[in-house]
Amino acid sequence: MEQAQGRPWLRHYPNEVAQAIEIPDIGVADLLLQAAGNYGDHEALQFYGKKTSYRQLLNAARRMAAGLQGIGIDKGDRVAIMLPNCPQTVIAYFGALLAGAVVVMTNPLYVERELEHQLRDCGAKAIVTLDLLYPRLAKVRGAEPEQGSLPELRYAIVTSIMDALPFPLNMLYPLKQRRSGQHPVIPYGQHGVISYRKLLASAAALPTERAVDPARDIALLQYTGGTTGMPKGVMLTHRNLVANAVQTAVWCYKMKDGCEKFLAALPLFHVFGLTVLMNQSVMRAGTLVLLPRFEIEAVLQTIRKVKPTIFPGAPTMYIALMNHKDLHKYDLSSIEVCVSGAAPLPLEVQERFEAITGGRLIEGYGLTEASPVTHANPIWHTRKIGAIGLPLPGTEARIVHVDTGETLSAGEIGELAVRGPQVMLGYWNRSEETSSVLRDGWLHTGDLAMMDEDGFFTIVDRIKDVIIAGGFNVYPREIEEVLYEHPGVQHAAVIGVKDPYRGESVKAFIVLRGGTSISRMQLDRWCRDRLAPYKVPHHYVFRDELPMSMIGKVLRRKLHEEEYAGDNRD
Ligand code: AMP
Repeated sequence: MEQAQGRPWLRHYPNEVAQAIEIPDIGVADLLLQAAGNYGDHEALQFYGKKTSYRQLLNAARRMAAGLQGIGIDKGDRVAIMLPNCPQTVIAYFGALLAGAVVVMTNPLYVERELEHQLRDCGAKAIVTLDLLYPRLAKVRGAEPEQGSLPELRYAIVTSIMDALPFPLNMLYPLKQRRSGQHPVIPYGQHGVISYRKLLASAAALPTERAVDPARDIALLQYTGGTTGMPKGVMLTHRNLVANAVQTAVWCYKMKDGCEKFLAALPLFHVFGLTVLMNQSVMRAGTLVLLPRFEIEAVLQTIRKVKPTIFPGAPTMYIALMNHKDLHKYDLSSIEVCVSGAAPLPLEVQERFEAITGGRLIEGYGLTEASPVTHANPIWHTRKIGAIGLPLPGTEARIVHVDTGETLSAGEIGELAVRGPQVMLGYWNRSEETSSVLRDGWLHTGDLAMMDEDGFFTIVDRIKDVIIAGGFNVYPREIEEVLYEHPGVQHAAVIGVKDPYRGESVKAFIVLRGGTSISRMQLDRWCRDRLAPYKVPHHYVFRDELPMSMIGKVLRRKLHEEEYAGDNRD
């Protein structure tokens, strides 16, 4: 079957899902203007019990925009946001967009070197950040920022979590900070350091309107390692982001405007949280229930108190919840839909989670370069366990030969390529890297995948993670799945290590479930019973934890680095 012509997935679309979707020709900030126009009194945000209505959110975002324009931010200027999930993140995001600026989301965990690279690469003129994070930023800016390594970064707008807390938590917060010795002194008024609170208070109520060309103007520069690992900015236009919010909302067609509560445990600075939480919630005039970090007790308490209906997450979040000792004490039945992305979702976790919540936990797939979602399993219709599902409406997908680029048939393994309105404009200032992944509008994902006769796609692995052991291709993900099936295994990661005889051999890193003990021999037997001999790990390493990204991806690259730094605890 020639996949380029056939689109076998279309026949599985639920009747309710329009096959040709319409993407409104609007900017991202229009999503907020519409929500505030139609649902002004509805609750837009909730943070530690403090509620913000759509009208209040729009007013704050407009003041932010006017404040940014007041310090000289113009159309197309880059404004970085380095914040955990809190109301200021949403206000700064829509504020910067209303000012006509390009948002650059910055991971608050970045160390100085990473932060400096990103801020210099994007040429940010201003950054909005938290007082607790300011010392790191100050180090990067240097004692004389105007002559330092980031001369373009003229303003640092600094806020505190206290600014967003309800009374009396806001009064207690400074005490808590002082007691923990975390009370940074911010040099307001020097070197462009501005108080967020003062900026909003002194700004005009309305910014100067900036017209947006949705298909051309960049809304977001989102940094990623992409397929090469070298951090670069993905240029996502207003149309890309609006399209992906519409595509994911159409997929979740039972959602009702003005009714849903989104549990925001995923970081909004990652494109998955940005699209499926922030943009989606605002587009549906839902409530974004913000948690500054994923902390199991807080998640469970919030579910009990606030009763969210939608809870997008990463596999590690669901795994952690399923393993919580007091899970049975909490009522999770408000949750209707969970979408797991970013990494493979172990089957056993999916089944248990659905049994406990009564809701649906489906696996989807995406990448920063596609805003990010391109595939998902149908939520209330036929799905395939272990697959990433069908291309979203308006998305085309095919499997191509890694070397020749030729389109492969159903059942064959090759590189997944996607095309659609959510696919990026390109990488910021990196035309060579852009042309290596974007060809004729097709984004080459760097992921090895397969499509079955029904049009369902399954990720086999990442191209660069494939292990070649004695001439055989070994896909770490397949071995990890087998290890995850073992009842004593909580986390597993598999990498290839140098082997003088086979070229590479398979090494597995295991985190055991609390209270279990399994020997290497037992694991070896488990794998031998389920895998061809050449796939069975040669080495097993037991660990207390694995290196994870903020979004819950096991960092195989870190394991590689540790391996060759001679630093593992074998
Ligand atoms: P990022 O750009 O940081 O969002 O990373 C995108 C990459 O995450 C993809 O290219 C995949 O390698 C991986 N990924 C995302 N979703 C899944 C999934 N459901 N299963 C396996 N890998 C995934």
